[in-house]
Amino acid sequence: MRAKSVKKAAPAKAAAKAKQAKYVYFFGAKQSEGDVSMKALLGGKGANLADMAGLGLPVPPGFTITTEACAKYYEIGEKALHALIRAEVLDALKRLEKATGKTFGKGPNPLLVSVRSGAAASMPGMMDTVLNLGLNPDTVEAMITRTGNPRFVWDSYRRFIQMFGNVVLGVEHHQFEHELDAVKHAKGYTLDTELMAEDLQEVVARYRKMVKAVKGCDFPTDAMEQLTLGVSAVFGSWNNPRAIKYRELNDIRGLLGTAVNVQAMVFGNSGGNSATGVAFTRDPSTGEHKYFYGEYLINAQGEDVVAGIRTPQQITVKGSREWAKARSVTEAVRKAQYPSLEEAMPKVFKQLDAIRVKLERHYRDMQDLEFTIEDGTLYMLQTRNGKRTAAAAVKIATDLVKEKIIDEKTAVMRVEPSQLDQLLHPVFAKASEAKAKKITVGLPASPGAATGQIVFNAATAELWAKAGKKVVLCRVETSPEDIGGMNVAAGILTARGGMTSHAAVVARGMGKCCVSGCGELHISYDKKTISCNKLVLAEGDWISLNGSTGAVYEGQVDTQDPKLTGPFAMIMALADKYRKMGVRTNADTPRDTAKAVEFGAEGIGLCRTEHMFFEGERVTSFRRMILVAETVKCLRLSLAACTDAEERASLESELAAPLKQYNQALKELLPLQRKDFIGMFKALKGRPCTVRLLDPPLHEFLPQDAAGQAEMARVMEVDVAHIRDVVESLHEANPMLGHRGCRLGISYPEVTEMQVRAICEAAAAVKGAQPEIMVPLVGNVKELAAQKTLILKTMAEVEKAKKVKLQIKIGTMIEVPRAAVTADQIAAEADFFSFGTNDLTQMTCAFSRDDAGKFLGEYVSRGFYDYDPFQVLDQEGVGRMVEIAMTYGRSVKPNLKVGVCGEHGGDPKTVAFCYKLGFNYVSCSPYRVPIARLAAAQAALKQ
Ligand code: ADP
Ligand code: MG
Ligand code: MG
Repeated sequence: MRAKSVKKAAPAKAAAKAKQAKYVYFFGAKQSEGDVSMKALLGGKGANLADMAGLGLPVPPGFTITTEACAKYYEIGEKALHALIRAEVLDALKRLEKATGKTFGKGPNPLLVSVRSGAAASMPGMMDTVLNLGLNPDTVEAMITRTGNPRFVWDSYRRFIQMFGNVVLGVEHHQFEHELDAVKHAKGYTLDTELMAEDLQEVVARYRKMVKAVKGCDFPTDAMEQLTLGVSAVFGSWNNPRAIKYRELNDIRGLLGTAVNVQAMVFGNSGGNSATGVAFTRDPSTGEHKYFYGEYLINAQGEDVVAGIRTPQQITVKGSREWAKARSVTEAVRKAQYPSLEEAMPKVFKQLDAIRVKLERHYRDMQDLEFTIEDGTLYMLQTRNGKRTAAAAVKIATDLVKEKIIDEKTAVMRVEPSQLDQLLHPVFAKASEAKAKKITVGLPASPGAATGQIVFNAATAELWAKAGKKVVLCRVETSPEDIGGMNVAAGILTARGGMTSHAAVVARGMGKCCVSGCGELHISYDKKTISCNKLVLAEGDWISLNGSTGAVYEGQVDTQDPKLTGPFAMIMALADKYRKMGVRTNADTPRDTAKAVEFGAEGIGLCRTEHMFFEGERVTSFRRMILVAETVKCLRLSLAACTDAEERASLESELAAPLKQYNQALKELLPLQRKDFIGMFKALKGRPCTVRLLDPPLHEFLPQDAAGQAEMARVMEVDVAHIRDVVESLHEANPMLGHRGCRLGISYPEVTEMQVRAICEAAAAVKGAQPEIMVPLVGNVKELAAQKTLILKTMAEVEKAKKVKLQIKIGTMIEVPRAAVTADQIAAEADFFSFGTNDLTQMTCAFSRDDAGKFLGEYVSRGFYDYDPFQVLDQEGVGRMVEIAMTYGRSVKPNLKVGVCGEHGGDPKTVAFCYKLGFNYVSCSPYRVPIARLAAAQAALKQ
């Protein structure tokens, strides 16, 4: 996408055409053409710059080239695009020259600009930006004369060539580093700050020579050419691999592209009275606002703060002291070497602090600010709603309600449901953490606890994670290329970089535990080791991170469950207040049930009884039943068809033994199942519990490997050949479409009877129990009717025996397309429907869940499906099936209770869809219950 050269002026015809659409919007004091409502067109950065200037804040003026221009860039190509916007750009440049009193590309007072990316959705660091554009030998000369500060000017030029060379010309970073190091080495310097003006001049000369050698052409000196190339590069960066990956991971879609902001430069690197920094109006990790959070560097430019090259200083005295304490820096050293902005530049600090309050009130949300101080004058360079951890999101939203800045509904909309996941996951168990061997302490960049094996690069992280390993990605510092590895890692550890470093920002966005800036650690990529003092750890060794304190431990540390009180409880209470749809859970054990109830589940939407058969002794009983089930069935059929007395007698004697085993096994299972249900009903304390009858094919309960079969033969005291025969006979070519679901209950009615008896007896034993019996895999109403007869019969028997009256609903899963399209017939027999969206997706799309992995990734990446249909309900297809079934079902029974119990029940998009269709509830795994509650509230509020 990068341009080789765009020299020629636009053809006049194309320029004339440009008159129709407006592609360039100016911003600056009293001159902003855009505002905050124009994010889609101007990007978040552009819209907010215009807005801030409109608020009277000190914003260097500039102009924004719209996202529509970016879309055009991809549509008509680079050349035509520049032709299209050229007149407007020249116009805006003139205005900018006037506003600043400077001239672009020439002296005596040269105008330098930054060319900054900025899409409607914030994608920090993913796209490109170039600073100090407009420098060339002439303007350098003019600026030196004007400022009398050659070091600053040469430093700016060096930075410009490096950034432009990398971003626009594609020269690799290390090639610049190499030249810089050569000069430093020759002079015997260790720090960049030691470089004098003439050294920097030398660096510039080397850079230009190197670029020429690598690219085969001179580094461009014409300012207008630089600008054109810069704009192209920023547009091009919209589709660089890391930006694409970022959008994919964050589900950012439907945007036109990035805008380009061309803004007059202000210089934080012009001396000791200049600085640059980033700040948050509240702590992005915790949401606290005890003080003003942020970092700055004196005599530095833009990226220096986040690049982790020098140690940034804190904004406030309070923050600075806390920072020093965590790193064992004495107060004297702190004051001398790392003073806060509050101490170093008190007047500017006061001004910035006032702006912080103003911006937060204006946007009614936590802001992430960029600022630069040029020779004692403060400039605001960016504000945006800051990225934050889930804990911070919840704390900030609830605090803003308490501070009366936002209302409750807004607070509910402010928290991303899927983010809540972060809050539900374990933290380190105090005792285990206290005992663990602490290696060092870094910055608590993103909270949570992580334990994993050390890896040193993203590729290994991805490889190992794929193999099921838990990894901690350890880097000197991360860069956007590492995003894939960061995504799969349990945690991220960096040796360099502050709280606003790339690693910190990205990890917080992902909700991933991260410890950054561990200055004591030495990470060697070559040796694949981490060393700290005497300790050396290698790739594959275990390490543990506490992202909330910054502590790094050797080995594994135990984790424990998080607390669900405070702001979390408040946001969930608000969600429940505005939510109209129920949320249940999928759980099979009393323990999971209790957990889900703690997370706010209003009942069980899916209890898979087969999970109860796998544990300990039960599987033995269940297997005994399976071993004879088919024999019993066949002999009974023969017997029923047989009229000959002698033959009957022989059949009966043949049946006796297997039938005994069959009945005995079921008799053993009954009390076990009953006990399970009693436990569940008790844990539910009167909440409803949908119990699904046996669903999976029987072969799943038998060992498929020789060793397992031999062991089973030993336990059952039968010949292993017999086991093999049974396994073989149960083998199915297509088990998901085979002998499973209600088909089992129809073949082996005693199993249904046993299960129903267990449920009913448990219901009779637990006061307030509310079971609902659900028949799986129904495709034809007759299947449901047959099972229902059986259920009702058994229920009546229990009622009689126990002298109770049971109120048990009988319903079905809708997971077979045939059931969906005959849902009117089925509804006549059913008290409720529960959509089994996993099977329904499998059968509607004809995607085998076990095999679709081979192609689904490609299907999604090529846009055949928007999302993996097993994670996010395919609304257009499977959703249509659901809608049809709903409509048919409720046409017969207007009050038919409807829910969903597939994995989709915890996916916020699917939850919104179910709400729209009028579902009574969604059901999901315990850890997703809070997500579903919040998503349901948001769906209700959006309506
Ligand atoms: P990103 O999206 O990666 O943050 P930005 O466009 O915000 O990229 O710019 C990168 C850095 O350069 C930021 O620290 C920003 O404050 C700084 N910067 C951008 N434009 C200017 C300017 N006109 N003057 C001074 N610093 C600037
Ligand atoms: Mg920025
Ligand atoms: Mg199913």
